[in-house]
Amino acid sequence: MQGFDSLMGQETVVQRLQRAIISGRVAHAYLITGASGSGKKTLAMAFAQALFCTDQPGSACGTCSDCRRVEAGNHPDMIIIEPDAGRIKIDQVRRLKERFALQAYEGSWKVGIVVGAETMTVEAANSLLKLLEEPSGQAVIMLLSTSPSMLLPTIVSRCQRIAMKRIPRQVIASFLEREYGLSPQTAAVVAGLADGRLGQAKEFAKGENLVRIEQLLSALAGREGRGLEALRLAAQLDAEPEALEFTLQILTTWLRDMLLLASGCPRDMIVHQDRYDELLEQSRLYSPSAIMQAIWQVEDAVRALKGNANRRLTLDALFYQLADLNSFSRASEVYKYGKSSGS
Ligand SMILES: [Zn+2]
Repeated sequence: MQGFDSLMGQETVVQRLQRAIISGRVAHAYLITGASGSGKKTLAMAFAQALFCTDQPGSACGTCSDCRRVEAGNHPDMIIIEPDAGRIKIDQVRRLKERFALQAYEGSWKVGIVVGAETMTVEAANSLLKLLEEPSGQAVIMLLSTSPSMLLPTIVSRCQRIAMKRIPRQVIASFLEREYGLSPQTAAVVAGLADGRLGQAKEFAKGENLVRIEQLLSALAGREGRGLEALRLAAQLDAEPEALEFTLQILTTWLRDMLLLASGCPRDMIVHQDRYDELLEQSRLYSPSAIMQAIWQVEDAVRALKGNANRRLTLDALFYQLADLNSFSRASEVYKYGKSSGS
């Protein structure tokens, strides 16, 4: 798959960009928003290909020299900047501006892609703003962001906004069965975890991640631990920050499934359908409000970790909170039992 064809489920935004090229109304700046793994960068690269492509202008052939160099990230008229140690710094924006000040080497277009635009420092953002205020010729800046609310409003107002769509779970599951050869059960779980993001689904569908998902789910489904066991597994993987994020994500889907079942929702609404019996059993042990609280605690931990909180401390705090939840629920079970047997 190449160019726009790799953007399954994003037909509306693809058509919008293609129309812009064909009608000669390409904007100077776009803000592409969506969760991580939703295809923002794939879209930006496909758009760049469509602008540069000499064989099929407006749609990208994927095979000409321009298309291939865009894909390899080394087209002379395209510059991509990504966060360096978590931030986009002013020097990086300066390099982009210098490139934009020059004539295009080859084609008529110049393309700048800013990945993680919300991580720009104040100086970098102000510097970029000047470039957006004085657009020149055939130049396009694409800002990619998971958190557009963190961008300067003056920057946002100068961009055309493009929001990546969430792809239905069933569409992702069929794709994984077809393209990755996953069994229907595994494909359904991975699609549920990906939560509408194709890029994320592809990442999860890699062999080593499938093994990890299976380990975590076995720990969660086990009679002992209930979530805590999975967190312990995560703690063992302390050296890998991605593994922790991944674990917390799986833990969240597990707790959400418990909440759905505790609230009487049907089986087909849950992500982990292949573990329905264990989920149902666990959902009966807790009140919906206790499960909800656990979800909030995990989400708080995810936010704290994204904000560069101390990993060890955050994880320890979460351990305590979830352990507390467990003991609280067991105490209320004893209380209920005592009441019913006493009457
Ligand atoms: Zn091409």
